[in-house]
Amino acid sequence: MLDTLGNLERTHTCGELRTSNVGEAVVLMGWTAKKRDFGIFTFIDLRDRYGLTQIVVSEETANQAHEKAKNVRGEFVIAVKGTVVARTPETINKKLPTGEIEVQASEILILNDAKVPPFQLEVVGSENLASEDLRLKYRYLDLRRSQLQNNIRMRAKTIAKIREFMEMRDFIEIETPILLKSTPEGARDFIVPSRIHTGKFFALPQSPQILKQLSMIAGFDRYFQIARCFRDEDLRADRQPEFTQLDIEMSFANQEMVFRTLEGVMREVFALIDADFETPFPRMTYADAMRRFGSDKPDLRFKMELADLSEDLRETDFVPFATVLENKGEIKCVVARGKADYSRKQLDELQEFVKRYGAGALAWIKIGDELTSSLLKVLGQEKIEQLAKTANAEKGDAVLIVAGKKSVVAASLGALRVEVAKRENLIAKNLYKPLWVTEFPMFEYNEDTGNYDAMHHPFTSLMDEDVPLFKRAIEDGETELLGKIRARAYDIVINGYEIGSGSIRIHQREIQNLIFKALGLTPEKARERFGFFLEALEYGTPPHGGFAAGIERIVMILQGTDNIRDVVAFPKTASAQDLMMDSPGVVDDAQLKELGIKIVE
Ligand code: ASP
Repeated sequence: MLDTLGNLERTHTCGELRTSNVGEAVVLMGWTAKKRDFGIFTFIDLRDRYGLTQIVVSEETANQAHEKAKNVRGEFVIAVKGTVVARTPETINKKLPTGEIEVQASEILILNDAKVPPFQLEVVGSENLASEDLRLKYRYLDLRRSQLQNNIRMRAKTIAKIREFMEMRDFIEIETPILLKSTPEGARDFIVPSRIHTGKFFALPQSPQILKQLSMIAGFDRYFQIARCFRDEDLRADRQPEFTQLDIEMSFANQEMVFRTLEGVMREVFALIDADFETPFPRMTYADAMRRFGSDKPDLRFKMELADLSEDLRETDFVPFATVLENKGEIKCVVARGKADYSRKQLDELQEFVKRYGAGALAWIKIGDELTSSLLKVLGQEKIEQLAKTANAEKGDAVLIVAGKKSVVAASLGALRVEVAKRENLIAKNLYKPLWVTEFPMFEYNEDTGNYDAMHHPFTSLMDEDVPLFKRAIEDGETELLGKIRARAYDIVINGYEIGSGSIRIHQREIQNLIFKALGLTPEKARERFGFFLEALEYGTPPHGGFAAGIERIVMILQGTDNIRDVVAFPKTASAQDLMMDSPGVVDDAQLKELGIKIVE
């Protein structure tokens, strides 16, 4: 028989009581995390979202409660009436904030029972953690674990901080529609069939980009939104098909104003974890980031910059290198400090690692007591010494070399740099290194279509200096110049994560038309997709710019997790399924019929 709650109310939470409460009569409610039976005494660890309090039930002083405690099992929901008592010195638990007291129960109410959970909830760290799929199926149980509770609370605090900051600075929160029109922005849209307009579809927003720009045209001047966005992207472990952004747009804004706003937001947010967070953020152009770190999101918590060996090898007759250089490729390296003792096996592992990024092989030089290298036979001692010098390697170091197409060299060495830093523990804990990456290319060549795509999005403005080049590309049909044009687009990167992107936008219709033309959109297509927006640009559009920052990424960094699902209350798997609800699911034939939809195998 279960007890009823009646009028009983909690006096305290399970994380609240301290020695200053000793002697007080209290009522606690929560879940039974653990029960230990010692004959005349029973101990119950009572848990709620605030913490854990030890309850002691004694046969001698509370016989009825003691009897009742016998029926209590893991995850039962109970209420405890009792008195706060100080623990004896030898029973104090320093790890618990409530560890200096316990509650001596006088009465126990069993408010609800619970089946035995399908996995163990009380685990320390990630040891003994059940498989993620099982935990996702019973997400509501997994969420009881303090680690996830903390993550979700930090997420809420982050969003609250952001709202407070934005409102203080006169930004207006505007909710934009979830049912939108499909205007593919890079990723695929999730589409929603309309019943009333059979055969027509809404699309879920990939971002409220156009709507926030329209808000500027509407005169709102400073917009923000904690915006849910949806992208039907191919499966990636670190993505969710739906995610949340802090979306911002400002009128009459230059890049510096956007930067100051975002730096302010980030400083406030990182203050939540008392992080030492430098503002203003350092800046690096995209070109420099790629050259120095092989990545547009360099992790600056450790050095290890790429060095270019191409010049030293310009005259080489070693065919693989000569071919790479002839084909405008590069030969670059990173130095693993103090790793001249890398074994054959370790080097083979690193070679396998770079192969995943398209590299053909990993060459190496080790400066141990003597110089050894996978290239010694083909290049000779002298050349190897020269390469080591260019790489800035010293005695004890290993030089790791990749040759190939520029994009492959960047991708593989950029990733190798991080891999080596992780393996060798070069990354300090509790260190946060923000960075603005600026001057992104406007266009990106798409090898599949033979067209240029917008690297950020088509509403991004060009750097003034590059406008003449852009006009030449369009007017004289020199399309290959498009790859050289830089945009007023910027990213925030923290610890190697892209936190978000933004840009100063195009606010003049003619330029917007030219950009669509460069992207291979005919005027008809452009009108069909963006006609309403192009028209709006003609009714007095202020210069404007903005940014969007990923809430999940931010909370992941704050909480020190690499798993995006750890910071989403009810996440989907890497293959975009909800294992708890079993979605996506099928719908009735009747529903489909109403929508005029037929499933074709
Ligand atoms: N809409 C862009 C995005 O979601 C951000 C921006 O340009 O403000 O990435």
